[in-house]
Formats: sequence, structure tokens, C-alpha cells
Amino acid sequence: EIRINSYLQSWKTAMTVRSSQPPDLLRMIKVGQKYRLRMEGISFERTILRQMPIWHHAQADPKIRRLTNSRASKCLQNKHNLTTVGDAEDLAAALPVVIIRGRLANEHTNSNYCECRDCTELRQVINCEHPHTCMLRAQELLDTLPEKWDPRAEQPEDHEYDLNNLQKERDEENFNYHLSTTWNISDVFQIFTNQLTVSTRKVVTTNPRELSIVATDGSCIDNGQDTAIAGAGVFFGMSDPKNQSIKIPKTSGTTALIQSNQTAELLATKVASE
Ligand SMILES: [Zn+2]
Ligand SMILES: [Zn+2]
Ligand SMILES: [Zn+2]
Repeated sequence: EIRINSYLQSWKTAMTVRSSQPPDLLRMIKVGQKYRLRMEGISFERTILRQMPIWHHAQADPKIRRLTNSRASKCLQNKHNLTTVGDAEDLAAALPVVIIRGRLANEHTNSNYCECRDCTELRQVINCEHPHTCMLRAQELLDTLPEKWDPRAEQPEDHEYDLNNLQKERDEENFNYHLSTTWNISDVFQIFTNQLTVSTRKVVTTNPRELSIVATDGSCIDNGQDTAIAGAGVFFGMSDPKNQSIKIPKTSGTTALIQSNQTAELLATKVASE
């Protein structure tokens, strides 16, 4: 059975009363629909990308379905026990597509008669009769994933430095610029989502030596009342031309801005980071 979780995969649960699902599960799914529960995030760390089920992967190109029912895919499901994106990545890793420091990454040859270590092991341990075909299929499955969900692609994670290793003086906080959802696949779920998925991903390089220290503050007179007036300040250093003091505008585009401490603090941080 390759159906694991309908939120991570592209199949739908039958929601009729006569469906075979237990009533508790149906109730849970209904609550999920009501609050628009689904997977979302700007980017995810590889540990999460690799935990995703590969079969019926929710974000894969629909053509992944045509790859599910072939002889190779049956071997992957039944003998290789291949269930996750990580499993597929590990199996496809034996294919000599990557050249590392001028030489092929491994000794695999493009044939089912290959006698490299990986192929020999697959024949002996799980009785796979066509290891090369299976590796190719694993790669084809991965190729249906958009970059954002492909652990082989460059990810924002590659440029996210460990904040604990950055220099910090007393009373300073390092601004957490990390975009990636970290830790665990259970952290990818969000509620109150709209129909749009976040598909834009631009990998931005940040050099920690280019990080600058900046003080920000927001404040508000008559906070919480109709007469509230808020302002923000950004301080890079004495007589630094980048220093700014800002009156919070009434609107930003078509969105009305609430005159409050929080708006001011947020705007200060936004301006400082631009
Ligand atoms: Zn087979
Ligand atoms: Zn081989
Ligand atoms: Zn196989």
C-alpha cells in the first residue's frame, strides 16, 4: 500500500458515509478542510524533503502517476521497499550522473549486468534482477518533483548559516533570516491557508561577513485608541546616511495599516533589512 497520508500525497479520501474510513478519521479530515489545513512554507530543509512519500507526492508533476505501475516501480515498491523521496535519492545516487572532482562519483555502469558494489548488494540482499532499471526509475520519480521539493536541487538551506556561530555582543540578537522550515515533516502543516501555493523560490546567498548591526525600534502614541500615531526608527550608526525615522503611513498599497506598536516594530525591521 503506497497511500500514506492524503495531505502529503495527491489522492483523495472518499468522504461518503458509506466509505470504509473510521468515523473519527472522517471527522478529523472535515475539521482539516474547514480550517484549510495543508502543506505550505517558503522552503523546507532536506530532512523534510526526504521524509515526503515519493509515490503520489502531492507536489510532483501529474506524470508521476504514469511511472507508478510499471515493472520497475513494482520492484521498487515490493523488493526495495522504496517509500520516501529520501529512499529514491539514495537509490539513484549510484547512477554516474554527478562528476565529483573530475572523476565519476562511483563505478556503476549503465547496465543491468553492472557488478558495482551497489548493484551486487541489491541483487544479493533484496533479489532485484535489474538494479540499473530500478535506479533509473528512482531518478525519473525524483525528476517529477519541482525544485522546491527536490532534495538534489540547491535549497535556501545551503545558504543559511548557523546563527549560533555568528558573533554576538551583549544585548544583541542575530536576526533570524532563515526561510526554511526545519526539523520535522509534521512542521509543514499550516491552517487558514488560501488557494495559492508559494511556488516562487529564489536562492539568495548571504555572506556572514556582510551582515551589519542595526538597531530598530517602533513606538506609538495613544496605542490602542483611534487617535494612535505610530513611528519607526532605524539606526545603523552615528551620522550613517542609512539611518531613518519613519511615520507609519495610513495604508500600504490597498492594505490599511493599523497605527500600533507592533506595526511600527515590524516596519522598522522591514526597512532595516532592505
Ligand atoms: Zn524487479
Ligand atoms: Zn552498478
Ligand atoms: Zn529492483
